[in-house]
Amino acid sequence: MTLAKPLGAPGQPQRFEGLSAADQCVHCGLCLPHCPTYAWHAVEGDSPRGRLTLMQGLAQGHLEPESPRLREHLEGCLGCRSCEAVCPARVPFAALMDRARAILVDHPATHSPGERLRHAAQHQAMKHPLLRDIGGLAARGAVRLRAQRLLPQGPWRRSVEHVGASLARAPHLRGTVTPETADVLLFTGCMDRFFTGPDLEAALRVLDRLGFGVAIPPGQTCCGALARHAGHTGEAQELEARNLAAFAHPERPVIVLDSGCEASLREYPEGGPGSRVSSLTRFLLRYLRATPDAAPWLDRPVRVALHLPCTLRNVTREGRELPELLARLPGVTLASVSAAPNCCGAGGTAMLTQPRMADDLGRATLAALRADQPDIIVSANVGCSVHLRALVEEGIPILSPARFLAGRLARP
Ligand code: SF4
Ligand code: SF4
Repeated sequence: MTLAKPLGAPGQPQRFEGLSAADQCVHCGLCLPHCPTYAWHAVEGDSPRGRLTLMQGLAQGHLEPESPRLREHLEGCLGCRSCEAVCPARVPFAALMDRARAILVDHPATHSPGERLRHAAQHQAMKHPLLRDIGGLAARGAVRLRAQRLLPQGPWRRSVEHVGASLARAPHLRGTVTPETADVLLFTGCMDRFFTGPDLEAALRVLDRLGFGVAIPPGQTCCGALARHAGHTGEAQELEARNLAAFAHPERPVIVLDSGCEASLREYPEGGPGSRVSSLTRFLLRYLRATPDAAPWLDRPVRVALHLPCTLRNVTREGRELPELLARLPGVTLASVSAAPNCCGAGGTAMLTQPRMADDLGRATLAALRADQPDIIVSANVGCSVHLRALVEEGIPILSPARFLAGRLARP
């Protein structure tokens, strides 16, 4: 790492703006046992405290943003926010990490033409459903033809190998009412043509069966989380602006299936959907508490292990809702889950870019989930589900809450 001069004290002149909150860190180390990358690497630079020290060095001009080692440590964060959840000094770690990564993006020391192409394609696909249709078709074709055999080792090959078990056809989504008359608005996200199509169809079935008028506002797009956490702030803001316009229907709840998207939408600036955003599970739980006999559910026995993603535990704080909702359904037994790492390793695109660590964390998570011999695993995050499905050795289904709930509806 290029260390231009010794690291200075907090409050020194800043070369890069927006990182001064790193000075709030009192180096107590309480976050260290909660950090999955620190547990895996056992290196201070891969801990929250170490990363904050690096941000201070970057801000004060003591460290260069092109330094490969600095980039490795900062880009290696999985974004689980477990550190933020336990920090007594309330260091806004996620916002700082977003800012630090934006600085790295502005100083692209190591990005190859292939990486730039991948990023440009990804950003365009987030905005345009037609491009996602083409991308989904290409991905399903590549998996069917086992095209990974022709690719060199690297993120492209890993992508094809890793997503194969989760790819699904594009959904046929039609709201039952217009946004103006809807009871709820459904957020569809950017993974609809790749992985979440069946989840969205299932959510529509459940909400319709319970009597809710659902609208799918046109013009909505990706929540922007992937772009923001990768440091592409401008792109994230562009996506955010589109969603602000699409969801500008006051007082209509916005239902989100994925805990990562929900966390991102909740943190939109004032005037955004913020407090109107709800996970499907939180929305249904409130409804079923008031109307316990609202839907006829199957009474077939099933043993479910719940995977609670880091965004759900640390950001949306809905760790109690999903177990309570499922425990209310007849025939459902919740399997106990033993201690697992604080992140399954999916971490946005980390499952593709840091495969060794991601797979170790994912396998440890699966072992914890399977300890009590469940029939099914339910996870509230699409990235975690894709990663865990790629690693699970036998065919235990890993479903979203929406698909699980739709499968428990009795025939009318
Ligand atoms: S818990 Fe907070 S204050 Fe303590 S070392 Fe970690 S980031 Fe710094
Ligand atoms: S966000 Fe997660 S992986 Fe990143 S430093 Fe904090 S605890 Fe570690």
